[in-house]
Amino acid sequence: MPKICVFPGDGIGPEVVREALAVLRTVEEVSGRRRFETEEELLGGAAYDVHKVPMTEKALALAKSADAVLLGAVGGPKWDPLPFEVRPERALLGLRKELGLFANLRPAKVHAPLLDASPLRRELVEGIDLMVVRELTGGIYFGEPRGVRVIDGVETGINTEIYTRPEIERVARVAFDLARKRSRRVTSVDKSNVLEATELWRRVVTEVHGREYKDVELSHMLVDNCAMQLIRRPKQFDVVVTTNLFGDILTDEASMITGSIGMLPSASLGGKVGLYEPIHGSAPDIAGKGVANPLATILSIAMMLKYSFDLPAEAALIEEAVERVLAGGFRTGDIFREGPGVRRVGTKEMGEKVREAIRKRP
Ligand code: NAD
Repeated sequence: MPKICVFPGDGIGPEVVREALAVLRTVEEVSGRRRFETEEELLGGAAYDVHKVPMTEKALALAKSADAVLLGAVGGPKWDPLPFEVRPERALLGLRKELGLFANLRPAKVHAPLLDASPLRRELVEGIDLMVVRELTGGIYFGEPRGVRVIDGVETGINTEIYTRPEIERVARVAFDLARKRSRRVTSVDKSNVLEATELWRRVVTEVHGREYKDVELSHMLVDNCAMQLIRRPKQFDVVVTTNLFGDILTDEASMITGSIGMLPSASLGGKVGLYEPIHGSAPDIAGKGVANPLATILSIAMMLKYSFDLPAEAALIEEAVERVLAGGFRTGDIFREGPGVRRVGTKEMGEKVREAIRKRP
């Protein structure tokens, strides 16, 4: 039986993970095709409180031995004063590195019933369905030399943007493979007019395309233009592939145009084990109140079924159920707008509505 390592984490993490796992059980029940074993471990601040480290050896071993990892969120003000090495967020960096997760996939999809939640005009956002593939383990976040030192008597901050051919090739392949399952269009985003590391990026992506993926349409865009185009005409994009730094910024921009952080799932791939998590954090301001939106985590389970277990029909069961629940007017606080037929629900009720919709699928 495939095994899922579960890290509920901190803040609203455990609340949303509980609902997502219950949805997985309903999918097992309804589809009858596969069953999953799940095993939980502490991670982040919750692990620090007990073990004085944000990720124990045991937790890491569990993640490595599993077939996929589900994560809630880590962090919170309680742990902010801790030294950098034991901060909850270190567990995430460690996990990505140890699992070799070099590609972060963040879909930004607008759900029709939530069109008014976007800060952009309705006609601009209607039908947005794009996927940003962000390189996750290279680039300026890891490049050497780095640091702050005094050079010739002047205090100087240094970071290094660095990409090797193999690093670019492997993330490009993830993007092209994904595009083949979507509408076969990839936009590679760089700053090749100024940064040599991304001049190589553009050249290597073009080569991989010419050699292996001629059936996919490839275009290139400078990052400043892409930031603008995401607001001006977001529907032009299907798969966007970019560096760690540019991806960090563009994924937040892309998620904002869809309206709510509580709706968006993510997947990190590359090694043997994929990691799935909502894009939001631990939301300490609403933790324990039972009002968090569990849909991002529930949709992360759908991504897991699709990408780690090759069960697209089961993933679709979840995605379609979420659409129907939203169309039925059910909203958690973060996506609630007063209106006819709209009802505010809490975390548990939202989870239950999704499970009900899966059981009663048309
Ligand atoms: P956040 O995403 O936790 O919260 C931002 C805002 O969005 C808050 O007002 C919150 O209430 C709301 N929100 C987030 N998720 C929601 C949901 N599912 N339903 C309803 N509302 C939701 O970001 P933040 O406040 O900047 O960070 C809080 C903590 O989370 C920090 O310690 C940060 O380091 C951590 N964090 C962790 C991750 C992760 O685990 N991957 C990611 C981002 C932030």
